[in-house]
Amino acid sequence: MTDRYASFVQSGAGRALVKRLGLPDPPRLRRYAVGDPLLPGPVLLGAASGSRLAVQVGRMLLDAGVELRDTPASSTPDPATGRLPGNGALVYDATGITDSTGLRQLYDFFHPQARSVLPSGRVIVLGTPPAECGPAREATAQRALEGLTRSIGKEFGRGVTAQLVYVTPDGDAGTATSLEATLRFLLSGRSAYVSGQVVRVGTGPAAVPADWDRPLAGQVVLVTGAARGIGAAVARVLARDGAQVVALDVPAAGDALAAVANEIGGTAVQLDLTGADAPTRLADHLADRHGRVDVVVHNAGITRDRTLGRMDADRWDAVLDVNLSSQERINDVLLERGLIPEGGRLVAVSSIAGIAGNRGQTNYATSKAGVIGLVDALAPALAGRGISVNAVAPGFIETRLTARIPLVIREAGRRMNSLAQGGLPVDVAETIGWLAWPASAAVSGNVVRVCGQSLLGA
Ligand code: NAD
Repeated sequence: MTDRYASFVQSGAGRALVKRLGLPDPPRLRRYAVGDPLLPGPVLLGAASGSRLAVQVGRMLLDAGVELRDTPASSTPDPATGRLPGNGALVYDATGITDSTGLRQLYDFFHPQARSVLPSGRVIVLGTPPAECGPAREATAQRALEGLTRSIGKEFGRGVTAQLVYVTPDGDAGTATSLEATLRFLLSGRSAYVSGQVVRVGTGPAAVPADWDRPLAGQVVLVTGAARGIGAAVARVLARDGAQVVALDVPAAGDALAAVANEIGGTAVQLDLTGADAPTRLADHLADRHGRVDVVVHNAGITRDRTLGRMDADRWDAVLDVNLSSQERINDVLLERGLIPEGGRLVAVSSIAGIAGNRGQTNYATSKAGVIGLVDALAPALAGRGISVNAVAPGFIETRLTARIPLVIREAGRRMNSLAQGGLPVDVAETIGWLAWPASAAVSGNVVRVCGQSLLGA
């Protein structure tokens, strides 16, 4: 499960060889630890003329303790290092661009700064959702922002990531809070393996946390498939962020599950999600112990790979039932019984296989595309109850599952993304964590890929 090539490349001898032979050069990613500053350097904040978010965003960044620049750094090299002063992030408010000719402002801002972003720095572009733009020309220009952002993600290298955040023009107080939560996530090391993504911030009952280092304080969170892999990482990250975690897995994984639950001071529920009475038993447990569940993380999932012509019906049925149908049954019962309160969040785990399809995984890809369908359908349906619904779609994550892939295919999977490496379970967990924060309640209907900007399904 270790990426030996990445370790080698980061050594002295490795660096020299990689340069000489032009080999893939996976950078060491900046990952979050409690108490870390948001960024490795200042933010250069720019705005197209007539933009509506820059002042508000500047205030948020200052409150978050970030050093802010509003003019490009001086072009005089630092006498100590001989280098131009670097930026931890470039944040550009493009909401004022209402016509394709106005896109030139993007070039004017980013071109001189292309080499100024520090390793593992960030690029964030803010825009208006095209569907919420009045004139066709404005919608066209705003849609164009995706091409710039995704290309920067592929160009800048050295662990720099780039994202586009569309913010509704008809916002409420929740919009501002969720924009702040989104910026804090995207700028920090929590989003190390997220790049080339488009996030939409709408409206909703988002709540500002008392402490941004414990954004889930007081929240009851259910995590399915929590005994190992990504689910165990989710349980740990959510507990670190202050949540009371209910960790669920099959009885056969009882020991591992108990170990995770004990480690984080959570509780363990041994339950096979596909059992006919599983939704009721789970709902009873949550009602008796906690009276509610603020966040449900549907992480449990299985693969039973075969090409379609060789796949028996049992493999098809098992994968669809665990990965999709059981989620629907559980959501239905928890919602019917009113156990998910106003402001609650549902976060499901999809996969890039659900976006791009995958040879030998018709069953898995169908189930994971279904998860995206579930987000699309449930997010608007539950908006009236103030419940957000989102999914993450992991790419190549270093787990037992991916360790079993034959070497050559495994290497291809690892390197075929903008960061030239696989992600870690913690990267998926941090992304789920952000979507689970009460402060993120106005982020709904999103599918966020945690794939290092994988070329698959791009
Ligand atoms: P994993 O096999 O290590 O863990 C899955 C957990 O779910 C296990 O502990 C398992 O016991 C549990 N589970 C399975 N069936 C269950 C059931 N019927 N009831 C209760 N629990 C059940 O897998 P992982 O790699 O950690 O994957 C977690 C999720 O992420 C899955 O949904 C998977 O499809 C998705 N995913 C993983 C990757 C990757 O690269 N590892 C990529 C994309 C998506």
